[in-house]
Amino acid sequence: MKAARWYNARDIRVEEVEEPKVEKGKVKIKVEWAGICGSDLHEYAAGPIFVPVKAPHPISKDIAPIIMGHEFCGRVVEVGEGVTKVKVGDPVVIEPILRCGTCPACKKGKYNLCENLGFHGLSGGGGGFSEYTVVDEYMVHKMPEGLSFEQGALVEPAAVALHAVRLSKIKPGDKAAVFGTGPIGLLVIEALKAAGAAEIYAVEVSEERLQKAKELGATATINPKEEDPVQKLIELTDGGVDVAFEVTGVPAVLQQAIDSTTIEGETVIVSIWEKEAGIQPNNLVLKERTVKGIIAYRDIFPAVMELMKRGYFQAEKLVTKRIQLDDIVTEGFETLMKEKDQVKILVKPE
Ligand SMILES: [Zn+2]
Ligand SMILES: [Zn+2]
Repeated sequence: MKAARWYNARDIRVEEVEEPKVEKGKVKIKVEWAGICGSDLHEYAAGPIFVPVKAPHPISKDIAPIIMGHEFCGRVVEVGEGVTKVKVGDPVVIEPILRCGTCPACKKGKYNLCENLGFHGLSGGGGGFSEYTVVDEYMVHKMPEGLSFEQGALVEPAAVALHAVRLSKIKPGDKAAVFGTGPIGLLVIEALKAAGAAEIYAVEVSEERLQKAKELGATATINPKEEDPVQKLIELTDGGVDVAFEVTGVPAVLQQAIDSTTIEGETVIVSIWEKEAGIQPNNLVLKERTVKGIIAYRDIFPAVMELMKRGYFQAEKLVTKRIQLDDIVTEGFETLMKEKDQVKILVKPE
């Protein structure tokens, strides 16, 4: 079968690989659609970040070259011994978290905080940029009636956004700011809408992305190239937002996000960081503000699919391009590097 494998930064190859075999407790999926994620793009542009290169990943036992693609859905084509959650023919979405099941976090059920956290499609063991893949039974979620496969490929990134909003202190009627409106930032805006936020401010340097933010529910947009986002937010909200979401990973933006919150405001960090970001602690202390981080998601895929049935996170608005697996480098990764108006590119692996 065909699959896209990561060999090195700027070296992803579509090639023939052996079709994976189903084993006890596992499920074989024929992939329908797989989305290209910002973290895939990081691996392509400047990896390895999550891809295991020096030693095999402790859970997948796999090492580069690895098959990529962790945002995907498909149909069950075979189930291993003991599998009861799904049957052949079921449409399923994959929750790609690799977890050890034995560390303190896993024992508490907080599997996204696993000591050995990995992702199917980033940490080895197969992925969605291939015709077939085999996953553990716990990773599959049956898709509800009426949800398209295109929609299914968006569940994983939408889960990140919904988890961030659910773990924040946002309440219906509150004011929020989203710093950075790439795909995850846009999904955070939609999750805030679902949570009943009354005012949602999008802060972003790309005008194309601000436009998209407006379409998806931002009540106002601010371009830091044109005005000071902190000053503007304080002015617009009469003292600051209740919750700011940091979705850029740019060090200077973290302090801006904090400064844009009101007294006792909260800043939620959704980004993964390449470098340190300095802050002045007094900006927290003197206003009793808090900062919290979130990673991935847990126990939330069914809720995301319910919201999709109610019109949130719609593929028609978020998918900007559909491509074949053979073209994933030129039409996928390279396009995402160049075109800021792209949101989600979906890949068909056959
Ligand atoms: Zn992702
Ligand atoms: Zn664990």
